[in-house]
Amino acid sequence: MFYVFCQVFNDPIHGTVELHPLLIKIIDTPQFQRLRNIKQLGGAYFVYPGASHNRFEHSIGVGHLAGQLVEALRTRQPELDINDRDVLCVKIAGLCHDLGETGPFSHLLSQFFIPKVPPPRSTKASVEMFDHLVKSNNLELEAYGLILPEDMDFIKQMIEGLKDPKAVQWPYCGRPKEKSFLFEIVANKTNGIDVDKFDYFARDCYHLGMQNNFDHLRFIQFARVIKVKKDGLNHICCRDKEVGNLYDMFYTRNCLHRRAYQHKVNKIIEHMIAEAFLKADKHIKIEGSQRQMFTLSTAIGDMEFLTFDYGMKDKDPINNVYFYSKRNPDTAFNITRDQVSKLLPACFSEQLIGVYSRNTDQSMEDARKHLDQWCIRKGLPNPQTKTRQKLNKPDNEAITREGKLKTGSNLEKTRETRRTSK
Ligand SMILES: [Zn+2]
Repeated sequence: MFYVFCQVFNDPIHGTVELHPLLIKIIDTPQFQRLRNIKQLGGAYFVYPGASHNRFEHSIGVGHLAGQLVEALRTRQPELDINDRDVLCVKIAGLCHDLGETGPFSHLLSQFFIPKVPPPRSTKASVEMFDHLVKSNNLELEAYGLILPEDMDFIKQMIEGLKDPKAVQWPYCGRPKEKSFLFEIVANKTNGIDVDKFDYFARDCYHLGMQNNFDHLRFIQFARVIKVKKDGLNHICCRDKEVGNLYDMFYTRNCLHRRAYQHKVNKIIEHMIAEAFLKADKHIKIEGSQRQMFTLSTAIGDMEFLTFDYGMKDKDPINNVYFYSKRNPDTAFNITRDQVSKLLPACFSEQLIGVYSRNTDQSMEDARKHLDQWCIRKGLPNPQTKTRQKLNKPDNEAITREGKLKTGSNLEKTRETRRTSK
């Protein structure tokens, strides 16, 4: 065994971060360096002056955490047969998972200007960019012990995440079925618990000046791979006593969305930037896929539908997490909410509707009236009345509706909370 000279970085979130020479090669490419100029939180920087961090440092953090988790599993469970190639590929996937981010205005552009053109999924764009990065910089991956094309396929599949692991043609995704747990490290499509979130929760909270009540190091400490009878796959499982911390993690995610990612002023600023782009419509062209050129669309919406959830639409994400106990460390099981606490959220998704206007004249009043009428037509309460009513639906769903007016601001909101009965 030979010693690999790693470079050491100092990171405000993770302290000293050691990176493999191949990761340094990737970081030193123009495709990766462009992440230095992409704000992690886009327009939220206009609201939170500390939120100036970029995709660059987040990507390094995810590469580091991906390495920490896979190394922890290798050390604790040698029977998993995790080799050096697996570890290196997992680190690369973590490092490169956001390569396809097209900047703070990408979401805004796709939402307001080019609604008829489906926006590229950022994971797909990351995979394409990773391919381009490797080719255009002549990266010799084999010189670092990787085997092609299977390791390239493996890395790309980890970036994309496995939506339905049962439907996967195992020989084609770079690793055998026994190593299915490796696909849950960077982008976990089954329950949303992955190192990408571990880094951005900690990093965003730090830069926004908020408390992060989730300790990802504790999760890594207790992570254990167990074969699950239900689907015959090896999954990363969590210790049963940590279930409360996982609910805290999803709550932190919800807080970040409410206070920063979907903050009303952030949204207003996005609309204003959208207006600026509209004015520049004639002069700006956007390159789409297939190298086609698109002009900015003239379509613009003035109403926002914001959905807040726990990452799995209206479902409890913990239902998709497997746990193990101290007494039976090799048996995976689910934990129902009744076994956790009576104080858990009753619903996991809600939608807020906000109407924005720059004017403070009569047109503002007219907009208010129109919103009132719209709410009545849709069966929602008047947003100015803070009323609350419960409706029983025949499909056994209870819907709580709440109208809300932020006084002193140019924003009106109404809220629809959907609760699925047990
Ligand atoms: Zn990310």
